[in-house]
Amino acid sequence: MSGSREATGLDHDGERAPSDGAWKAQHEVLAVRYGTRTTRRSEVFLHYDTYGEPDAGVVMDYYFWVVRLDGRTTLVDCGFNDASGGRRHRTMLCPPERALVRLGVDPGEVTTVVLTHGHYDHIGNLRVFPDARLVMSRREYDFWTGPMARKPLFAGSVEDEDVAALRVAHAAGRLDLVDGRTTLAGGIELVEVGGHTPGQLIVLVGDVVIASDALHYYEELDRDRPFAHVADLPAMYGAFQLLRELADTHRLVAGHDPDVMRRFPVVGDGLAATIALGGR
Ligand SMILES: [Zn+2]
Repeated sequence: MSGSREATGLDHDGERAPSDGAWKAQHEVLAVRYGTRTTRRSEVFLHYDTYGEPDAGVVMDYYFWVVRLDGRTTLVDCGFNDASGGRRHRTMLCPPERALVRLGVDPGEVTTVVLTHGHYDHIGNLRVFPDARLVMSRREYDFWTGPMARKPLFAGSVEDEDVAALRVAHAAGRLDLVDGRTTLAGGIELVEVGGHTPGQLIVLVGDVVIASDALHYYEELDRDRPFAHVADLPAMYGAFQLLRELADTHRLVAGHDPDVMRRFPVVGDGLAATIALGGR
């Protein structure tokens, strides 16, 4: 990419010095760790007993993501809220709205919120962004607004209020429903992979993949271990394979793994990890 900048006379290498936070701030993904809990390995890996390993505690962190690119701020998911997290005994480390402010992001400047899937911990703060465009896969929207979503094993992962907010946004023409692969302004690419939920999306930006819940823990890829909550198991394995292929050229950001905060530099007093976008 630096070659193309030279060719067009737009060589900004001087701005890419590590000391220049301003440059990084304009081209980065922030993984915002807004919540956490401790659970068991047998609760996070599907049919854990088949692996013949002792059970053990494991931390599950909760993230949403901020993409800062070319002066635009795009959100990927928006976290659970106090009520929906509290009902499930999750620990709110910092309410997402306040987390944005702490990271220097004015919620009002968020023009687009990508919703990777409909679970309560990903779409629980839509009220903070009343004017933003929302983007979600059509399959995901149809599923959560359809009859199968009432089955207890699905219904436990969503909030009626959140789904109602999606319906309202859709009726107002504020929800863009996408199929397959879609490219948003700025070259942010959405890829529908399914598996965890019927229309789970992953997000590609620069050389970064925001895997969201197509990959809760890196161990899922490393040891080919599906996550406990799955709508379509072959699709989940297929998403793992796609992510492995993408890992040759991209850095993967897992959806719930505490290791995200160790793999990437931490900013905002431990509130977020920053992943500078290469190739920009
Ligand atoms: Zn989920």
